[in-house]
Amino acid sequence: MRLVLLGPPGAGKGTHAQVLSKDLSLAHVSTGDMLREALKAASPLGLKAKAYMEKGLLVPDDLVIALVKERLSRPDARKGFILDGFPRTPDQAKALDASLKELGMPLSVVFYFKTSLPVVLRRLTGRRVCGKCGKNYHTQNFKPKTDGFCDVCGGKLIQRPDDREETIKNRLEVYDKETFPLIDYYKKQRLLEEIPGDLEVKELNLVLVGRLKKSWS
Ligand code: AMP
Repeated sequence: MRLVLLGPPGAGKGTHAQVLSKDLSLAHVSTGDMLREALKAASPLGLKAKAYMEKGLLVPDDLVIALVKERLSRPDARKGFILDGFPRTPDQAKALDASLKELGMPLSVVFYFKTSLPVVLRRLTGRRVCGKCGKNYHTQNFKPKTDGFCDVCGGKLIQRPDDREETIKNRLEVYDKETFPLIDYYKKQRLLEEIPGDLEVKELNLVLVGRLKKSWS
């Protein structure tokens, strides 16, 4: 199974990719996570990406496309994957199509998380992530058992720098301009399935599982 999760920042793509990838044994390919790792390691890619990420802008296509191409050619991804946060521009989508064609692995479905602005803002401003393992939490809707610490690895929870209000505005503008056109792109390929992104995690997971079962029956 080869899935793309599409939608604005705060739509829940990362949360659901984490759950689905575990339940279905699929590789979770998150360009945001990979870029944050590169930033943490101060690798050449991380140093190039830093200024864009801090401002809530997109990292240039050539860097992200090379990253994803390499990741999808690894053995675990060849068994199936969930793309979370990629593609984000028409050029990335075209490059993905070309790579997957070369690898003989066409996409199964693109889930578009249609999410309203108030919900997106509430999720982004309240989001906290584990600084160690990256698990997502929320200050109101998904609290850890011990305040400020990750249930899974005990790491300290932090607010992503790009989840601050001034950066969120940029990220949403970038989404509207660069990523929103992909909905039409995948509609034309008959791959798009719209998902009610405003639903809470458990309900939305049930919807996703139901849709996947339907696609596979
Ligand atoms: P995310 O965790 O998916 O919200 O991504 C965090 C940040 O990483 C974004 O605001 C971008 O700066 C960068 N990023 C992640 N994925 C991409 C992508 N596909 N293309 C360009 N930049 C990306």
